[in-house]
Amino acid sequence: MANTITVKNPATGEVIKEIKKFSQEEVETALRKGFDYFPKWAKTNAHKRSELLNNWAVKVRENKAELAKMMTMENGKPLKESYGEVEYAASYIDWYAEEAKRIYGRMIPANTETKRIIISKQPVGLVAAITPWNFPAAMMTRKAAPALAAGCTFIVKPASETPLTGIRMIELAHEAGIPKDAIQYVTGSGKEIGDLFTDSKYVRKITFTGSTSVGKQLIKNSANTVKHVTMELGGHAPLIVAKDADVELAAKETVTTKFRNAGQTCVCANRVIVHEDIVDEFAEKFVQFAKQLKIGNGLDKGVDIGPIINKSSYEKIVDQITDAKKKGADVLLGDQFDTDEEKDYYFVHPTILNNVNEDMDIMHEETFGPVAPITVFKELDEAVKLANNSPYGLAAYFFTNDYRTGIYLHEHLEYGIIGWNDGGPSAAHAPFGGMKESGLGREGGLEGIEPYLETKYLSIGNL
Ligand code: ADP
Repeated sequence: MANTITVKNPATGEVIKEIKKFSQEEVETALRKGFDYFPKWAKTNAHKRSELLNNWAVKVRENKAELAKMMTMENGKPLKESYGEVEYAASYIDWYAEEAKRIYGRMIPANTETKRIIISKQPVGLVAAITPWNFPAAMMTRKAAPALAAGCTFIVKPASETPLTGIRMIELAHEAGIPKDAIQYVTGSGKEIGDLFTDSKYVRKITFTGSTSVGKQLIKNSANTVKHVTMELGGHAPLIVAKDADVELAAKETVTTKFRNAGQTCVCANRVIVHEDIVDEFAEKFVQFAKQLKIGNGLDKGVDIGPIINKSSYEKIVDQITDAKKKGADVLLGDQFDTDEEKDYYFVHPTILNNVNEDMDIMHEETFGPVAPITVFKELDEAVKLANNSPYGLAAYFFTNDYRTGIYLHEHLEYGIIGWNDGGPSAAHAPFGGMKESGLGREGGLEGIEPYLETKYLSIGNL
């Protein structure tokens, strides 16, 4: 098997770089180093860890232009989105640089004068992360920053499609003064490195962002050594537009949440569920806004939608559209493709399908592309039923100006992240994560550091 990874630009099919794959011995050595360095990093005082994280954020921002360009080249997303992601990635480092200083314990009053009860928090140990290609910087920092802040050492395997941004981010961490063994990367096959991570006696925690199927495998494999796990898995976000919604706002925000990163995010609106009285007005506006999106190479000025990451993802999108059309869906926009199999690039134009129903694959399988299916509802509980009819529970959106409708939807949707009149709820200061088969644990906010900490209880007696 080849011992290199070929990184390609998905907008052109051109090779950007060949990078080495780590051998099994090299991965094991890296794990050993992370394990050996853990006690030292854990003892580095929290203010120092915070200072080093702040230095890292400075370095990331100083190198924003280079990182953004690299990200667009390997991932395909428009340059403006790459700039946005670098800032978003840095915001996790900022946030956890502060949280490092706020890892508090507790003292509990005992039921006798001769005892004291103290609760303290300790870092879990060496953390091994596996990250996806769609956010190569931010999905890494939202794991690395809380891990390092907590006092854990960290090792990451970036996605093979987009390893360059992640590797550069780690080099910048080292340039910022974070010790080499405190944060490391390895590259190679997901399965092989995943197995080395889960089998390793040195690793105490696995944190993963990616597909539900791989996540399930990692949970199973982590059981042998009872590792901590945090899993950010797939999603199939519903977006409900209620009768009294501001239709223009709903249409604009749906465009933002649906077509960002060419629809290749786990929180993209994938099922647009609209009240039947306003569906025509909504669809017209939605089409009108989506039509304005420019498709092309993300490095070119004014581009809003880049390529699909690879052929198999592209084929899955085409299959979903074909299936929906066959079963009666109407194409309001798109269903157009610019591809070159020989050169190996695949673009899908923004596509909007109407009259979609639950018999169609697109309503059940995660869609990772710029395709929005519209379906209708009459009563609110019907919309909730449709929305919750999924094994996923990551993000959901709704649009309403009626507070009763809003509270009802908030309370009944089985989703970890909910946007009310808001198509972009993610933020470093808020907990991100899913219910059901969308994952375990939360990243971001106060909640995002807890999974890197153990609770230790000390009882002092016979005073
Ligand atoms: P995606 O569809 O976003 O590529 P994957 O779950 O396939 O989702 O990939 C996410 C990350 O998981 C990537 O870094 C990939 O290399 C890695 N990966 C893929 N298969 C496995 C596996 N069997 N075990 C561990 N990691 C894997």
